[in-house]
Amino acid sequence: MTTTNKQVLLAARPHGAPREADFRIASTELRDAEDGEVLVKNLFLSLDPYMRGRMNEGKSYAARVELDQVMVGGTVGEIVASRLPLLKVGEVVVGFLGWQEYALSKGEGLMKVDAHAHGGKVPLSAYLGPVGMPGVTAWYGLLDIGEPKAGETVVVAAASGAVGSVVGQLAKIHGCRAIGIAGGKDKCDYVVNELGFDACLDHRDPSLKERFREATASGVDVYFENVGGAILDMVLARLNPFARIPLCGLVSQYNATEPYGVKSFGALLASRVTLQGFIVSEHMDRWPAALAELAAHVAEGRIKYRESIAEGIESAPGAFIGMLEGKNFGKQLVKIA
Ligand code: NDP
Repeated sequence: MTTTNKQVLLAARPHGAPREADFRIASTELRDAEDGEVLVKNLFLSLDPYMRGRMNEGKSYAARVELDQVMVGGTVGEIVASRLPLLKVGEVVVGFLGWQEYALSKGEGLMKVDAHAHGGKVPLSAYLGPVGMPGVTAWYGLLDIGEPKAGETVVVAAASGAVGSVVGQLAKIHGCRAIGIAGGKDKCDYVVNELGFDACLDHRDPSLKERFREATASGVDVYFENVGGAILDMVLARLNPFARIPLCGLVSQYNATEPYGVKSFGALLASRVTLQGFIVSEHMDRWPAALAELAAHVAEGRIKYRESIAEGIESAPGAFIGMLEGKNFGKQLVKIA
């Protein structure tokens, strides 16, 4: 039986912000699974800021996508054909199967998900969000690098997003003050009223700096860095001695054609700051502990989350472009089937 597979390919390398024309939808015929393979029908695709770097020609921390190749991405899918003894038809797997409806896989990198685990209170889509790569990113960066102590102040930007929302809620669980920065009143209201942060400031508010000074009257002990640019400068100026900065991402820079020049660099010396960049996929030894804790927090309602769900694989380019502009509200997903 042949299966038609709709895929999103990289058609051109963007200069600045990506456009729809940088992607191309293709329909291909998939052959049957051979010995040692499974056929996975993707249910959800995760859209993440790191994918912007994969579209570039130059070297990033991960391999680029080649032109006319399927865009890379995390997925949750169901096995629909199996010639691998360890994976059975009907089982659900988290994988890295890309922007496409189906994928043949030899099983490497596929992680089985039990939909009934945790009392059935962790929906499948959450394995791409708070109980998946973004959740582990927040957990590892905040706890292993940020080392927050009760009573300290933790600041995170992109605070309503997949990573930032978990950072602030974990900070609260560990007895810290959590201050978010997000784009717009609706996101800020959600971050405070639903997620339980102590405060959230709108980065488009003309009086942002003044309001940030008030919200961080006792300084900043941990700055979980997601965005870079002018927000980084603003936070650097408020750091306490021996503050920690887990450097997770710089989303404000991903579409920039000229990098932002940081002005408050000297604060790193003056405050004897520890800054460490990290890539979550290089710390696989920490994933099992992180995922177990995160799943329990989600199942028991201590970590809440929100999703923006685009429908159909053809909607992935538009949703991705929108995410880099802050149009997503929570984890950006594509529902494929
Ligand atoms: P989000 O769900 O937070 O979506 C991206 C958000 O970035 C937008 O919604 C927008 O939120 C914010 N944003 C975009 N442009 C700007 C800007 N110019 N200034 C301020 N905010 C901006 O994405 P994720 O949670 O998936 O990712 C957050 C960060 O974590 C990214 O930098 C990503 O690259 C990084 N990351 C790093 C990993 C690692 O291993 N190091 C792994 C996973 C993620 P708003 O509307 O609030 O401004």
